[in-house]
Amino acid sequence: MSFDPLTDEQKEIRDLVRQLARDRIAPRAAEIDESHEFPWDIVELYREHGLFGLFFDEAYGGLGTGALLALTAIEEVSKVCATSGVILAVQELGSLGLKLAGNDEQKARYLPRLVSGEWLAAYALTEAGSGSDSAAMRSTARREGDVYLLNGSKRFITNAGVASLYTVFAKTDPEAGHPGISAFVVESDTPGFEVTRLEPKLGITGSTTGELAFEDARVPVENLLGEQGDGFKIAMRILDRSRPGIGAQALGIAQGATDYALEYAKSRETMGKPIAEHQLIAAKLADMETACEAARGLLYRFGEMVDAGVDGADLTKASAQVKLFCSDTAMWVTTEAVQILGGYGYIKEYPVERMMRDAKITQIYEGTNEIQRLVIAREMVRENRAFSLAGVA
Ligand SMILES: Cc1cc2nc3c(=O)[nH]c(=O)nc-3n(C[C@H](O)[C@H](O)[C@H](O)COP(=O)(O)OP(=O)(O)OC[C@H]3O[C@@H](n4cnc5c(N)ncnc54)[C@H](O)[C@@H]3O)c2cc1C
Repeated sequence: MSFDPLTDEQKEIRDLVRQLARDRIAPRAAEIDESHEFPWDIVELYREHGLFGLFFDEAYGGLGTGALLALTAIEEVSKVCATSGVILAVQELGSLGLKLAGNDEQKARYLPRLVSGEWLAAYALTEAGSGSDSAAMRSTARREGDVYLLNGSKRFITNAGVASLYTVFAKTDPEAGHPGISAFVVESDTPGFEVTRLEPKLGITGSTTGELAFEDARVPVENLLGEQGDGFKIAMRILDRSRPGIGAQALGIAQGATDYALEYAKSRETMGKPIAEHQLIAAKLADMETACEAARGLLYRFGEMVDAGVDGADLTKASAQVKLFCSDTAMWVTTEAVQILGGYGYIKEYPVERMMRDAKITQIYEGTNEIQRLVIAREMVRENRAFSLAGVA
């Protein structure tokens, strides 16, 4: 049994997601990985069962069931298919700008279509020359009458080409650094906006990752999020909320790999007994399970914090800790799972090979783990702890 703070009502929804994952998504996972094609059938499944509603308030047609349950849904799906998990996580990522900084009119215009899944969303911060150092972005937005003209490009954008709505960051004042950045909602059919390239990649191969180009793209002034110059703050507040979604994806991958390795180790025999009974393999399984449970503790605590209304620096640190620990756990655990399967672990017929490839991205996107460590340490230095070196021998 693992840590499970959900209410009975939340458990019912989580169990429905778990069943859909096992019955409908797991059988598709290898095909999705192999084909490198975006799985619209999985989006349709989410639409049919209202699963995008997990990320939204009731006021806009969502379920209003909170962050903890939403994170467990991403975890459940990612246990069997990380590409399908990131589709849920990025619907949240791409919608958070509207949820956190949108005005009533913007929310009413866009959120219902994101809740139903009629539209998919994307978040476009990274550029070719600016990933970790996002304030070094070069895209610009210049106001001309009742539109902003966007120019520049974005790279590595998840859901490129499949999203209908992009939260895009660009400089309204190129000389001003952080305060020069503004955030916009950009519809996919905006004149002057194009998806110019999709990247082949190591893992989550069914998820699109692409380049966006803006050439005098005409974005109505009503699509500015917050005030002009609020963009950097909005981008960071979004990431505080969304990074644990990647933590949930990572934990799902790690638990899926642990469960598979356990079953394999119980049935594969060497030297007269199941390998699960050889102490070196047993120790691996024990460490994998313990790491997953520790990651789950951090992840669920974060969900409970959001649902309790915690915000600000405490949330920033907790969010970075979830992303860091869950993703490092996913990479390590999936590598061990491959080892437990021996030669079979390295072969595509067995899912741990895919899981190990899928795990890697969780240490990179939505801020690399080096950046998460910087964030955590920065918050530690800022905290006013009731501890003094004076008097410590
Ligand atoms: C599959 C995929 C999907 C993605 N999806 C999105 C998306 O939807 N939206 C979006 O905006 N972006 C997305 N990204 C971009 C991703 O967030 C960036 O790639 C990531 O933040 C790192 O930026 P970079 O690639 O420019 O690396 P760099 O910033 O160039 O970093 C290179 C290395 O240096 C390290 N480093 C950098 N600065 C420091 C520092 N100050 N101290 C210590 N180490 C440092 C990094 O940790 C890394 O190891 C995606 C990327 C991929 C691969």
